[in-house]
Amino acid sequence: MRSRSVDLLILGAGVAGVYAALAAETEGARVLLLSKDPLPSGSTPWAQGGVAFPLDDEDLEAHLQDTLRAGRGLVEEGVARSILEEAPRHLERLLAWGLPFHPEPTREGGHSRARVRHLGGDRSGLLLLRGLLARLQSPVREGHLAVSLLVEGKRVAGAWVLGPEGPVEVRAGAVLLATGGFGRLFPVTTNPPGATGDGMALAHRAGAVLRDLEFVQFHPTALPDGALVSEACRGEGAILLNALGERFMPRYDPLGELAPRDAVARAVFRERERTGGVFLDLRPIPRLEERFPTVVASARALGLDPLKEPIPVAPAAHYAMGGVKTDLRGFTGVEGLYAAGEVASTGLHGANRLASNSLLEGLVMGERAARAALESLSSPRAPEALPALTLDPSLLPELRRWMAREAGVVRRREGLEEALAFAEGLPLEEAPPDRATRPALEAGSLALLARLLLRMALLREESRGAHFREDFPREAQEAYHLEAQGFTLSRVPAGV
Ligand SMILES: Cc1cc2nc3c(=O)[nH]c(=O)nc-3n(C[C@H](O)[C@H](O)[C@H](O)COP(=O)(O)OP(=O)(O)OC[C@H]3O[C@@H](n4cnc5c(N)ncnc54)[C@H](O)[C@@H]3O)c2cc1C
Repeated sequence: MRSRSVDLLILGAGVAGVYAALAAETEGARVLLLSKDPLPSGSTPWAQGGVAFPLDDEDLEAHLQDTLRAGRGLVEEGVARSILEEAPRHLERLLAWGLPFHPEPTREGGHSRARVRHLGGDRSGLLLLRGLLARLQSPVREGHLAVSLLVEGKRVAGAWVLGPEGPVEVRAGAVLLATGGFGRLFPVTTNPPGATGDGMALAHRAGAVLRDLEFVQFHPTALPDGALVSEACRGEGAILLNALGERFMPRYDPLGELAPRDAVARAVFRERERTGGVFLDLRPIPRLEERFPTVVASARALGLDPLKEPIPVAPAAHYAMGGVKTDLRGFTGVEGLYAAGEVASTGLHGANRLASNSLLEGLVMGERAARAALESLSSPRAPEALPALTLDPSLLPELRRWMAREAGVVRRREGLEEALAFAEGLPLEEAPPDRATRPALEAGSLALLARLLLRMALLREESRGAHFREDFPREAQEAYHLEAQGFTLSRVPAGV
């Protein structure tokens, strides 16, 4: 097995990983970035809407209030304020680097003002990531899968990696997880195939705290194959219709089509059950093809023509609010281990993410985590690889069916119990890293997250802290985080 050594090893080359690498290399650090998929990889290049930046000081307060409202009492205000306050500096820098942000901000669901900056129509994430990658000097290794973390004592000191030419042991002064979310736990998802929660599973093995995994945001409007129909479409005038041709959102929420995502997703789910289908009418949008080329192309690929008729839509797993708990500098609590982007849970999103706050979080927290990691560097001498968690991947389709039926937009206690019994019965195994293959490792990550997510969802469902339960008045709901360290769950008041 080959071996190499760097200052900072970054797992993941989406917005958080690449922006972190840019920050680290300006400090003169030796950085190595790994991506298990070919570039541009991860959810980042799939992002359509854009990045939410406060427009000015006054709008910072409004942006904060919108974030708090969407997050259902679980956003940590100090965290949100600190991230939003720093946002304008990053926009300025990105503009100075020549990133082609459209000068006119747009409005998305849950935002009280137009403050989302998009690039290239609906190719925001792709153009952002390309712009960042173009500036990067550090090496990025594609097709390199981190299988397990190396530890020395209680400190993370690198990773055991499976590359195209075989295994590589990468020793590092610190490791930054930027591996994205776990949408692939559900059968219909907007996420790319690599969104299997590997970083969360790796962190869990190393003793980090996983938090609030049960808060999965479902995008209310995906095409039947999971292709996203951007929220910005509704921002620009598209309307939702049920199978009877009725516009139904105003009956569910005064904000109508621009209500927060969970409200729209639940309404879409209910109207599909009640009337047999839900459709999005994009025809009210002027210059539709020019403004939303990706949406039009995705619909056409399924034989649909959004210029002529409303297109069928359904909710799809979209964003993991929970993840590896970190502080405001991206530190996980395990020496040598940092996390940023969707893999992390900083407290910004609470129980429900405000649209387009995640790319912003990736930028702000990517840079902070890189800086904090560099301040903590150590020189590993003889680290050992932790075992990998694996599962027979042929068991995944059934797990996904359980997740869709019982742990999707609508959750019931009995259903969650049954799904948990199934997930706990899965033969999850610890394997030496050299025996793990990519499909078995990804299935192992998903099964571990399923168990923890279902336990958290059950606990939440049994309590007054349900957050997504409409039968509870908001003021009667308790705000608390759920944290798992190993398989022990604990309730922690919000803001701690
Ligand atoms: C369709 C879609 C549209 C979206 N639109 C928006 C939007 O408009 N605005 C917004 O703010 N957010 C949006 N989001 C959410 C946002 O795109 C993501 O939250 C964000 O891009 C996550 O960035 P990241 O850097 O954390 O991870 P990702 O971009 O997901 O990157 C993960 C990286 O980790 C690598 N990786 C994973 N596991 C391993 C492993 N074991 N070993 C090595 N490498 C690994 C992957 O190859 C990849 O490089 C959207 C998401 C989707 C799916």
